[in-house]
Amino acid sequence: MKRDDIYKNSIPAGELIFVNRNLRLSSIKMVGFDMDYTLAIYKYPDFEILAMNKTIERLVEKGYPYELFEGNFESSYVMRGLVIDKLSGNVLKLDKYNFVHRAMHGRRMLTYEERYSNYRNKKLDLFSDDFMWLDTLFSIPELAIIINAVENIRNQKRFQHFRYADVITDVRKSIDEVHQDNTLKRIILADIPKYIEYDPFLPQTLHRLKSNGKKLFLLTNSHWDYTNALMSYLLNNRMKEYRDWTGYFDIIIVGARKPEFFNSDNIFYTVNISNLQTRPLETTIASFVKGVIYQGGNIKDFERLSAIRGENILYVGDHIYGDILSSKKRTLWRTCMIIPELEKEIKVSTENIRDIKSLTRMEMQSIILDRTLNSVKFSMKNGKRSSLKRELEKLKKKHARLVQMIGIRRDEISAKYNIIWGSLLREENELSKFGAQVEDYACVYTSRVSNFFNISPDQYLVSPPKLLPHELEIEELIR
Ligand SMILES: [Mg+2]
Repeated sequence: MKRDDIYKNSIPAGELIFVNRNLRLSSIKMVGFDMDYTLAIYKYPDFEILAMNKTIERLVEKGYPYELFEGNFESSYVMRGLVIDKLSGNVLKLDKYNFVHRAMHGRRMLTYEERYSNYRNKKLDLFSDDFMWLDTLFSIPELAIIINAVENIRNQKRFQHFRYADVITDVRKSIDEVHQDNTLKRIILADIPKYIEYDPFLPQTLHRLKSNGKKLFLLTNSHWDYTNALMSYLLNNRMKEYRDWTGYFDIIIVGARKPEFFNSDNIFYTVNISNLQTRPLETTIASFVKGVIYQGGNIKDFERLSAIRGENILYVGDHIYGDILSSKKRTLWRTCMIIPELEKEIKVSTENIRDIKSLTRMEMQSIILDRTLNSVKFSMKNGKRSSLKRELEKLKKKHARLVQMIGIRRDEISAKYNIIWGSLLREENELSKFGAQVEDYACVYTSRVSNFFNISPDQYLVSPPKLLPHELEIEELIR
């Protein structure tokens, strides 16, 4: 529930804005938004199933047998933030240090031994063509198709001549095509409420930012006709202050070609919305004009034409690479990452907080027990008191039992996030690869744009203290 009273500290955890790097909203003069999966959240799983079916249709048109891709869309097998090993068809979940913790081949989980022999004794070149990253929410249907195809190749002799890498490459090509050639867009536009979530707090959120002196801009890779349809659905006729959705934004840029926008010299065009013709923006233009629709462009010209410096801009997007990482690496823009999955992750964490805390305590006990065990072992080695032998056996048994219990408890908790892949942001006691990217590149993150409605537009967003291992251990010992 969103509340108007922002001074009471009772905002539900799922609606909070979380802070990696302190952000003084009072120094932000302009807030920019991506559209797809940022302002416009696609409905799960209706959109994913649509994208999956249309991509399979495209693959069949290219000559693939339909049966190769047969299988349901199953939520438990899909998650973003995973990596596909194209040569073997395996799907991997990595931690912050690129260590493979979980791997699936079709619907079969790889054993510890298989993971070890495939991934642990060599350095993985994860950025080579042999690996494919699934870092956006648009890659979820793609993953569902690949899992079904690998499963069918694995189980059915008639498909065994297909090479995983070829199929996986063609799946990506085909899904890109159905996105780009309007196959999906046409269906979505015919029934927007079926595929796009309506957030009643979005108009007020943008209005609150605007009426507190922030300029707003839209920077999306989608083109005018599609952007116009989705934004009209989300914002038109919602507040009497705005004639239509374009009134909320001081600058509107469509077809931005992010991440190129952040590192190219692509020129800006203006879009004539009556006939969709574009023409290059004249070089003599000194500033953006409100109401004009721009297309393409690049960051340098953007900052010149908007006359606002990078560190005074907050950009809100959902794509770790296209929106967050690229802008962070190339500009001084501050970043807010939208992670729709956060609502569920927080719900699971909140519901299981007792178990999570007791797991942490068990882990600390295990560290201390292990330390005691080793010091007893050391004393025995030095020929001291053979009576220690019995104590050592007792400690060993106790430790083994504890380790086993930790494993069981950890699996139980992890399965509540996703039965196969666990938490999106975490893996055992490390951040997942995806979680680490969020930590490294997003100044702040939250589940949806309208969570900004809960806070003052001038709030100082402060990151919680980060504890180092020695500080954590001292804290636990004191307790
Ligand atoms: Mg997006």
